[in-house]
Amino acid sequence: MSAEIIDGKKIANEIKERLKEEIDILKKKGKPPSLSAIQVGENPGSKVYVKAQRKSCESMGIEYNLHQFSENITQKELSDFIQKLNQDPRVTGIILQMPLPGHINAREMQRLIDPTKDAEGVSPTNMGMVVYGKPLLGPCTAMAIMELVKSTKIDLYGKEAVMVGHSDIVGKPTALLLLDKFVTTSVCHIATGERGSLPDYVKKAEILIVAVGKANLIKGEWIKEGAVVIDVGINRIEGKIVGDVEFDVAKERASYITPVPGGVGPVTTAMLLRNTVEAAKLQIGS
Ligand code: NAD
Repeated sequence: MSAEIIDGKKIANEIKERLKEEIDILKKKGKPPSLSAIQVGENPGSKVYVKAQRKSCESMGIEYNLHQFSENITQKELSDFIQKLNQDPRVTGIILQMPLPGHINAREMQRLIDPTKDAEGVSPTNMGMVVYGKPLLGPCTAMAIMELVKSTKIDLYGKEAVMVGHSDIVGKPTALLLLDKFVTTSVCHIATGERGSLPDYVKKAEILIVAVGKANLIKGEWIKEGAVVIDVGINRIEGKIVGDVEFDVAKERASYITPVPGGVGPVTTAMLLRNTVEAAKLQIGS
């Protein structure tokens, strides 16, 4: 069997097309979506994200404002600025770029973001809504994974899924969203790897999602015949970007598989745009 490659760019474009109509309506209603990003200090990775965010927002007619601060900013100054954005009716979405310097409590800052302006879906309120299966503005990558799984049109009820990686923004919320669809879900992490049990879990996965950040961690031969494989990992190897799954072997066993790049990434960006639009709608009660 050779897997169908899930085209993340195509899925993202379809979502963006639908959003364009909603953006036009919001503009007519006097609530144009406008995303404000906060960046503290100099981080090369974060700079790349900011540039990409600006490009995707502007291509959709969404205003994008970047607020840069020195890494010496105090926690009080940063929290005051977040409150200011919360209160500004022209700002419909807020995104706090990670990482933050060590003296700033990132969780505390995320908690301050108004949940109806939380474009990344990282505030405790929005994370909490994931438990109920009804995220108002959900964590973008977890929502993107669910869109990619949905695109395969497989019946999820009773399926066996394995989520490798248990980060707060990807692994944990994705596992909860799968549970909400009655998928029997196992979550693996570093301790599973250290125990040597990872192959045993992966081999029984009908839906396999991997978000670790280690190239070729998942061997192609472990993939169950006909599995749906969503590879979230981003690794740079000899100037090339690859995922966590040994793609060439895995694609001969899977039924559907996401490429890296071109799989989860573009849909995650589309989810950020969708959250920004949904946030603006929430703020005018539509
Ligand atoms: P993280 O970096 O916070 O945590 C890594 C996870 O992998 C942890 O749960 C850890 O326990 C687990 N792990 C580490 N080694 C392991 C092993 N040997 N066996 C099993 N589990 C192991 O996770 P994150 O922030 O979710 O990021 C994971 C990857 O996904 C990174 O490569 C990141 O760049 C990528 N990512 C991509 C997108 C996207 O839009 N495409 C978005 C977010 C993250």
